[in-house]
Amino acid sequence: MEMSSKVAVVTGSNKGIGFAIVRGLCNRYEGVVYLTSRDVEKGEKAVADLKKEGLSPKYHQLDITDIKSVEIFSSYIKASYGGIDILVNNAAIMFIENAMESVAVQAEKTLFVNYFSTLSTCEQLFPLLRDGARVVNVSSSSALLKYIPSENLRQRFLDPSLTIPELSNLMREYVDAAKMGTHVGEWGISPYVVSKIGINALTKIQQRLLNDQDIKVNSVHPGFVDTDMTTQKGHQTINECAQAPLYLALDAPDSVKGKFVWSNMWIVAWEA
Ligand code: NDP
Repeated sequence: MEMSSKVAVVTGSNKGIGFAIVRGLCNRYEGVVYLTSRDVEKGEKAVADLKKEGLSPKYHQLDITDIKSVEIFSSYIKASYGGIDILVNNAAIMFIENAMESVAVQAEKTLFVNYFSTLSTCEQLFPLLRDGARVVNVSSSSALLKYIPSENLRQRFLDPSLTIPELSNLMREYVDAAKMGTHVGEWGISPYVVSKIGINALTKIQQRLLNDQDIKVNSVHPGFVDTDMTTQKGHQTINECAQAPLYLALDAPDSVKGKFVWSNMWIVAWEA
């Protein structure tokens, strides 16, 4: 019985937009929905909160930066259900504007979580994706390629034959430049921007690699909401910011693949 269930997984879903995506999936998806978190206590509290709303998410620990944790989760899902139908890569971090950490530390940590750990989680979980599966990579409005000052770098991101190892090298080059203090002219000032541009570029490559299968990968700017992550005054609610990710997970036509979708469901040219 369980083996035949459809399965949705949302990373970093104990709070914020990820939590609201789980809520939306529980309301609408005919399948089991996994709320996952790096901290078990926080995750179980989030599940309890949704249960009070009459919803029934399942729970599993998942720290995207911890290979062991991702392996345990992946083996568990494989053994229990055999595959995944919806994967929402939502977990991410952002340093606040006046953070005390050096740019070098901020660059390394931000890229490690938002890009490299999202990638390694995908490497573990993609083999479980079933026919018809949908992957939603949560990106940001800051992920437009125009925010990278260097024309040369932009061209490298735009190379239609860019591979994942080459993209990862680009991400490493940025971290190295931040460590040397030479990043500003070429890469700009924000590690978060670079990490999410990496996610948009990764999305395109992932879709290209899966084009011969019935699997769709898209990235999304969810909108602006004042969560623990942001210091800006987001004017939307977490439920509103879950709408575009839910659209891509559940409603978007099959023709929407390898795209960057805005919170109003419009497809945006991130490379413009
Ligand atoms: P929050 O900080 O509220 O939530 C982030 C979630 O990610 C938390 O559950 C956090 O867990 C989790 N997380 C962080 N690191 C890891 C990890 N290593 N493994 C697993 N989970 C982890 O942020 P938001 O809800 O605002 O952001 C959600 C997504 O939306 C992010 O990708 C963000 O970049 C994007 N976004 C948000 C915008 C906004 O206005 N809020 C605008 C544009 C994009 P913990 O509680 O343990 O820290």
